[in-house]
Order: sequence, then structure tokens, then C-alpha cells
Amino acid sequence: MTIPSHILLPILSLLFFSKITWSVSSDDFLRCFSHSHGTSNIIFTPKNSSYSSILLARIDNLRFASPSTPKPVLIVTPLDESQIQTVIYCAKKTNIQIRIRDGGHDFEGQSYRATERFLLLDLINFRSVKINTKNKVAWIGAGLTLGELYYKISQKSSTLGFPAGLWSTVGVSGFLGGGGYGMMKRKFGLAADNTLDARFIDVNGRILNRKSMGEDLFWAIRGGGISSYGIVTLWKIKLVPVPKLVTIFGVVRTLEQNGSELFQEWQTISPNFESRDLDVRVVVDTIQSNSSPRTDKKTVRFIFQSLFLGRINKLLPIMQKSFPQLGLTRRDCTELSWIQSAPFFSNFSINTPPEILLNRSAIPRFPYKGKSSFVDHPISSKGLKGVWNRMLQLPTQVVLIQYTPFGGIMNEFSESSLPFPHRPGVLYMINIGITIDNNVKQRLRWIDELFRYYGPFVTKNPRTSYVNYLDLDLGTGNSSYEEASAWGKMYFKDNFDRLIKVKTAVDPDNFFRHEQSIPALFI
Ligand SMILES: Cc1cc2nc3c(=O)[nH]c(=O)nc-3n(C[C@H](O)[C@H](O)[C@H](O)COP(=O)(O)OP(=O)(O)OC[C@H]3O[C@@H](n4cnc5c(N)ncnc54)[C@H](O)[C@@H]3O)c2cc1C
Repeated sequence: MTIPSHILLPILSLLFFSKITWSVSSDDFLRCFSHSHGTSNIIFTPKNSSYSSILLARIDNLRFASPSTPKPVLIVTPLDESQIQTVIYCAKKTNIQIRIRDGGHDFEGQSYRATERFLLLDLINFRSVKINTKNKVAWIGAGLTLGELYYKISQKSSTLGFPAGLWSTVGVSGFLGGGGYGMMKRKFGLAADNTLDARFIDVNGRILNRKSMGEDLFWAIRGGGISSYGIVTLWKIKLVPVPKLVTIFGVVRTLEQNGSELFQEWQTISPNFESRDLDVRVVVDTIQSNSSPRTDKKTVRFIFQSLFLGRINKLLPIMQKSFPQLGLTRRDCTELSWIQSAPFFSNFSINTPPEILLNRSAIPRFPYKGKSSFVDHPISSKGLKGVWNRMLQLPTQVVLIQYTPFGGIMNEFSESSLPFPHRPGVLYMINIGITIDNNVKQRLRWIDELFRYYGPFVTKNPRTSYVNYLDLDLGTGNSSYEEASAWGKMYFKDNFDRLIKVKTAVDPDNFFRHEQSIPALFI
């Protein structure tokens, strides 16, 4: 078939000119950047042999590593703050968007993909750590992973730690920028609650700290969707005391072993443990089991996973008193140092050496979709049964639901103390994750349906979700306050209004943006 020239010509010229615009634009950027920094080995264009490996190295969700995912016109790996200042200046001047990446674990890939022309600013070289054990504080680079941070702390002290997340490859900045919970939240709160200061570069290239940025902006970057405001280069964190020995356990029960009944009890027991040293979460998936009465032999597995900041002798009576149904025994428990416990929560087997925390590629990656909800009333056994039945519709090991208990000190923070509003009264958080394979549509429909099924059982008015489990299905509209509130209030409740005010004050032209960033609006 021949395409008539009146159709072909416009198409070709469009392709041609869009290519020209593309290359002129990045050439302009390179020229602009070289005025201040000369020719540079920190910039990678698609022609550079390292471009693809750098881009892929920190794409956690392989759903966004496909050929059809839009790629950056440049990758910049700055070595110091002056180079970041120049990147901002030149990107604005040449009309290129910036995506900022630390650990690359954003659920929706917003740190390395965009729907408009963009460059990727990768903070891999910002990994300094300065620990002051006497004052129990540390200044840490914004490009570190949680595993690197834990390991560095343990090299200086065996009795200090930081209340951050489970997965070692998650980046500190994306993590802190959404609040950040871990296995010590019931005692010390979120990681963001334990963050004291930051170095931050704004849209005008000014380098600010807590004092010079002011309390509104410092409040916003600790949980309010960090990349909406500018670029953090360093964080100052408060270290917390951990005992020389902690105890961990992972107790497994299936549906046939009363797993669902135990889970039902867990819903109110775990957020209300008197001891804040104790955190018991539940990971639920499906497996094959000979004891399953089903013809396909599938069952639901419940893993009760715990960190206790103390020794076994102290833990057993607490569990016996508060959660005897679980039947925890000494044999289920392992005593080790806090740093030795970290690999266990990053899905490595017990006794994996802590050096694994430094390995950024030790954890397998796969394509997935995730969603989250918060629960403030226990779900009935009938309601739970509906969840397990839905899980059993899928092949085993395709879906994983993590249930994270709150309570303890989390109840003592007001909803507005930080942008993260999920505080008093929250029993636990639900995080559904599904592996996406060739059945993309079917899998996405499944998770969407489960999310809707959960609707009557979770927080309402608004229904809430965790911004660190970013979910573009909640909405991306941001041209009006009403439109943006549809998703913004789900993450931040009434804190959303204050976040919009901060954003509008620090970045009124909305230079720092992504598909679900805080909009600049005059409200
Ligand atoms: C496997 C896995 C396990 C997880 N475990 C936990 C957990 O235990 N607890 C928990 O609370 N959360 C957890 N999360 C969620 C995690 O906290 C968020 O996905 C977080 O945003 C990831 O941070 P990152 O730096 O790795 O990601 P990135 O994708 O690099 O960044 C996430 C966001 O932060 C922005 N950003 C990154 N660095 C900067 C910076 N220096 N300045 C400005 N903006 C920046 C990015 O642009 C992007 O918008 C987990 C996620 C995954 C995928």
C-alpha cells in the first residue's frame, strides 16, 4: 500500500522535527552545562555505552524497564551540589524536565520515567555518612540505600540504629520523603519523625537548610512527596538506642492451621501490644500444600514476622500474655544483634551476613503493581474470607499482601505533625503487591477488584493510601484543587492543603513535577 504524499509528508516532517527539537534541546543543555563545568564525565547520552546500564541499575519495578518506557535524553550523576545547581539552571533554560532518583523503588517509576522530555538526575554519588555516636546523630548522603545506612551505623556502634524500612535496597531519600516506616515504628515512629535537618536545593539553585528553608518546607519534605519541591542532598537523622541483642521470629500458619483465625485476632492485638519493643507484622501469600482440602491443593499462608527489641526470655511471657493463640515457642525465636536482624527483613535467610546490605543487586527484581489501604476497625472473618478466596483464584506466589501494625508511639503523633496523616486510631496498613507477567490486563484488573472489595472495610471519608506506595490509579488530575484533592486527600488528608501552599510558595511555576506531584495552585 502506498501512503499518499499529503499524509506521509506531515508525518515524516513531524518525526524529523521532533528529532531535531530533541537533539537541539539536549545539545543546548550540554553546552549550557559545559560553561560551568567543562566537558564532563558525569553526563551520559543514549550514545554512551554506560547509558543503559546506569538507567537500568536502579529501576526496581521492571514493569518500567520495557522498550516502550520513555527514556531520559540524558543521565547526570553529579558529584557535588554545584553540579546540581547547574543542572537545575540549564534544565530550566533549555526546557528539559528533571527526574530525581535515589534507590529507584518508586512503585510507579516516577524517579526515572516521564511523559515529557526529561533528564535523569541520579544521586548515586551522594553517599557520604558522618556519624556522631556521642550526640547520636548522623549526616547522610541523599543517594544512600537503607542497607548501606544500617551497615555504616553498625560499624560505629552496636547499640545505635535507625527506625527505617525493611528492604535494604530502598533509597533513604524517597523513603524519608514519604514518611518511611519500619519494624521499630511502634517505639520510635517513622523515619521522618527522626529527621532533624536537611540540605536542599530549590528551583532557583539556592542551597537551604532547615533554618533557611523554614519549618513549612522542612515539614513538607518529610513525608509530603519530596520531589515536588526540589532536591535534597543530605539528611541529618537522629539515631535511636537498640539493645545488644534483639529477637526475631517468623511463625508460619496456613488456612488449615487456623491462619485466618489467628490473623483475625492479630488485627487488634498487634497494634495494642503494651510493649512498644514488639512489632509483629503478617505477610500473606498462597502456596501448594498437601493438607489443603482443595483439588488444586492451593492454600493461603500467613507468616507472622517479628522484631522484638530485647531477648527471648523477655519476649515469651509478653507473647504468652497478649497473643497466646500463636503458640510462640523458644524454638521459633532467634537472638542476634540489630544489624544481623536487618537481612531477615530484607527477605534473606536468618544468619545472612550483614555485608549483603551493601549489595544493591542482591534482591531479585520483577514487574509489579502495588496498592495500599489503612484499617481502623478489625475486618470480620467473612470479610477476610473474601480476600483469601480472591487470592486463591490466581496461581500461587503471584500476589503478596503485607499487613503492617501501627499503634504504640504512632498514636501519639497528631495527624498534622508531618504530612503522613495515618496516626491515631490506625490499626494497620495493607499493602497488596501483584506480579505482572504477560497477563497485564488481567492482573491489573485483579488488583483493582481486590482494592475495591476492601473498600467497605478500610478507612473512609477519605479512604486513605500511603504516598510511598504511589498509585496513579487514584488519579492524576491537578488542574484544580477539586481535581487534585481526589487523590491528594487520600495520601495526606487535610495536610494536602498545607502541602499545596508550600509547593506554590517554593516552586510556583511547577518546575519540579511528576504525574502525581503536589500541584502549584493558589487556594
Ligand atoms: C521492595 C520495596 C520495599 C519497600 N519497603 C518499604 C518499607 O519497609 N517501608 C516504607 O515506608 N516504604 C517501603 N517501600 C516504599 C518506599 O519507601 C518508596 O517506594 C520510596 O519512595 C522509595 O525510595 P527510593 O529512593 O528507593 O525511590 P526513588 O524511585 O529513587 O524515589 C522515590 C521518589 O522520591 C524522589 N526522590 C528521590 N531522591 C530524592 C531527592 N534526593 N530529592 C528529591 N526527591 C527525591 C524521586 O524523584 C521519586 O519521586 C518499599 C518499596 C519497595 C519497592
